Amino acid sequence: MSPSYTLTITFAIALLAGIALKFWLASRQIHYVASHRDVVPPAFAAQVSLAAHQKAASYTIAKTRFGMITLAWESALLLAWTLLGGLDILNQELASIAGKGMTQQLMLLAAFVAIGGVLSLPFTLYETFVLEERFGFNKMTIRLWVIDLVKSTLIGAVIGLPIAALILWLMGSAGELWWLWAWCVWMAFNLLLLVVYPMFIAPVFNKFKPLDDEALKARVTELMRRCGFAAKGLFVMDGSKRSAHANAYFTGFGSSKRVVFYDTLLAKLSPGEVDAVLAHELGHFKHKHIIKRIASLFAMSLVGFALLGWLSANAWFYTGLGVRPNLDGPNNALALLLFLLAVPVFTVFIGPVFAQFSRKHEFEADAYAVQQTSGNDLSTALLKLYEDNASTLTPDPVFVKFYYSHPPASERLARMAGAA
Ligand SMILES: [Zn+2]
Repeated sequence: MSPSYTLTITFAIALLAGIALKFWLASRQIHYVASHRDVVPPAFAAQVSLAAHQKAASYTIAKTRFGMITLAWESALLLAWTLLGGLDILNQELASIAGKGMTQQLMLLAAFVAIGGVLSLPFTLYETFVLEERFGFNKMTIRLWVIDLVKSTLIGAVIGLPIAALILWLMGSAGELWWLWAWCVWMAFNLLLLVVYPMFIAPVFNKFKPLDDEALKARVTELMRRCGFAAKGLFVMDGSKRSAHANAYFTGFGSSKRVVFYDTLLAKLSPGEVDAVLAHELGHFKHKHIIKRIASLFAMSLVGFALLGWLSANAWFYTGLGVRPNLDGPNNALALLLFLLAVPVFTVFIGPVFAQFSRKHEFEADAYAVQQTSGNDLSTALLKLYEDNASTLTPDPVFVKFYYSHPPASERLARMAGAA
């Protein structure tokens, strides 16, 4: 069997196996949630009403069903781009318009992103304006949605095109070890984004006001001092203009570090509960989860770039995925796109490993919060957030193992009760 044929077969099998696995998990989740719909689990019976529990069940089922339809559509698109020759046609068409060089390659990347964006548009619109709307979460108007789309497209082009051009140039001009240079550039770019995003990009979409509730500010500042943290500012973000979902996060590093509370979070939680949620976030820092995450991202992208360096030099990588490489011009943009399309098909299967690490980190952050604030406040805060986000209290255990970045409420609260 030729390497090209082997790749085609392996890719097709992995894709089918991945789809079958995801469908199986989704249907497990739907059945499990539906069969636990009529009774609030005893541990939560005192705090959660049957109506809220049933709303969470309906929301979870609706989202999971929608996820299955999206998966079917995305898988069809992936096949169309690769084995059915979509990327090949696009590449040849653009080559006949723009010749074979940097311009054509950038056009290929831009056209791919634009076409993909348009084809997923009905799904994005449905999710926001039908699904989220039905459960009372959507606060967005069509006008705001269009403005967001225009802004993010412009920002994506202004930031994305130069970095893409730089990487394509390295691929073509930096010799055998181009992938090492490209990796350095990519990492530097990501670090820069960590600083630039909270200061310059996030404010394009949301308003950030300094926290002006003096009592809460004093409380939070005292908590941070006690935990040994210095942030440059406490901010409130107008999350309510898009969604009723609530959140809080820590962002940036060095001098751009800041704490951001969604206005929706402050509206729902008591000061003690806000403290507990923030202490959980601080726990992620104390346990160096953020650094670990960044370090593993660095390591994985190094492997990725090295793999891309090897694959892009072999003709079978292109032909095996349904594309004829240019014989008299660069194939770098093609290699990038094929790589980004093909890699997730194979990495689905290691997803549970990352989810497992993530859940372990969440337990550690919870334990830290219990230690620094009050386990009771953290429990009630989490329950409010689960209820407000209509997160189910009864997810399928296998689905959890595979996908959940956070442990289910029952496990988190049981550990807190044990620790308090
Ligand atoms: Zn967390």
